[in-house]
Amino acid sequence: MKYIGAHVSAAGGLANAAIRAAEIEATAFALFTKNQRQWRAAPLSSETIDEFKAACEKYHYQPGQILPHDSYLINLGHPVEEALEKSRDAFLDEMQRCEQLGLTLLNFHPGSHLMQIDEDKCLARIAESINIVLAQTKGVTAVIENTAGQGSNLGFRFEHLAAIIDGVEDKSRVGVCIDTCHAFAAGYDLRTTESTAKVFTEFERVVGFNYLRGMHLNDAKSAFGSRVDRHHSLGEGNIGHDAFRWIMQDDRFDGIPLILETINPDIWAEEIAWLKAQQNEEAAA
Ligand SMILES: [Zn+2]
Ligand SMILES: [Zn+2]
Repeated sequence: MKYIGAHVSAAGGLANAAIRAAEIEATAFALFTKNQRQWRAAPLSSETIDEFKAACEKYHYQPGQILPHDSYLINLGHPVEEALEKSRDAFLDEMQRCEQLGLTLLNFHPGSHLMQIDEDKCLARIAESINIVLAQTKGVTAVIENTAGQGSNLGFRFEHLAAIIDGVEDKSRVGVCIDTCHAFAAGYDLRTTESTAKVFTEFERVVGFNYLRGMHLNDAKSAFGSRVDRHHSLGEGNIGHDAFRWIMQDDRFDGIPLILETINPDIWAEEIAWLKAQQNEEAAA
């Protein structure tokens, strides 16, 4: 069973995210549980929590179909101690919000070395950040997203994800989310069925599908290997349709949220319908 949806707006209340997902006939969704551009948010009220849970129940979204995303400000590999502490506190708050909402996954970008520490040290810091936060929470898995490798962002190689997982003590609560646009921009060729199959063979070898907890399905405006993160609508960018059809026909992507972060929300319903239909299409030659 494939769970397919989009990163919907939670404007006007978290429950609205579930309502908006249902409107576009999504069977999964992503959301921010607070403003993603701010450090602080008011604690969740019991009313907000109850309304969110009720909406999820009404529209049949189980926690495994929902992939919350943390704030863009958080850098769990920050080279400066004070700033690192601030990020760890904010990440803990994000995890606790998920706990309160009954959610089981939290998707985040690993972190950046800001040219001040080397890659290995930054990856070790990220793993340590995850350990600190997992020790203080229950039931929520930390889901590391691969990046395009813009600036000094780490996570653009599968090896980075593997190194972070290696440093996490509780392997049962760490996983990864693969963003197709980010992978493509980082130099993983998703332009044909064959090249896509190869990329995921490498993913299996380096990280392992047992750690795959979600996908971001985005085409890329950015060029192959450009290390630039610019999403596009499915089939309209440099990846094209084949990779997405291939993913929809491979059962290793079953049972996890498959989330669009494509640039035109007006066609999400169409994109979701197209993805659903690919499950039954003849495999591309
Ligand atoms: Zn993404
Ligand atoms: Zn992106």
